Amino acid sequence: MAESPFKYCSDCGKDVWITRSDREFVCDACGFRHFITPIPAAVALLLDAQDRILVIRRAHEPGFGLLGLPGGVIEPEESGETAAARETHEEVGLDLPASAFTYLCTLNNRYLFQGYSWPTLDLCYIARVQDFNKVVMQASEVSEFMICALDEVPLQDFAFESNAEAVRRGRIVNAEAG
Ligand SMILES: [Zn+2]
Repeated sequence: MAESPFKYCSDCGKDVWITRSDREFVCDACGFRHFITPIPAAVALLLDAQDRILVIRRAHEPGFGLLGLPGGVIEPEESGETAAARETHEEVGLDLPASAFTYLCTLNNRYLFQGYSWPTLDLCYIARVQDFNKVVMQASEVSEFMICALDEVPLQDFAFESNAEAVRRGRIVNAEAG
């Protein structure tokens, strides 16, 4: 049976649960229903003029020391594109407008946070830049960055399979665009 990420009822504060499914937990004291729903996140595939991609090494858990792509949880009032642009700016210092981000695909992921593996829905976008000369790492997020030919990205070193799959999808779209 699924484990509840909720310790206490957010309505009455009791801690007696009825597990209805892997995504619904009901307070047995007051009946308040708590749901797990996927958390939307934005992921940026940044490609330069030579079809090379910017890959980051993660500076924090989950996946500390493993590879990733710029991205993060979408905030209230943001679109996926706006969030991709913001995360790109925050993590690697590149200023791109939201309109630079083209939809690629959505992928499911799990993100361990505060003791629970939350489902996320990763909204993946491709953005083109001329080069990566203006990349400035945010040290709290990124310990190093690599510029890889799209076909040579070491997918086995990614923290999240969804990021590796995004690169695979990016290869296909990029090859089709020729
Ligand atoms: Zn309750």
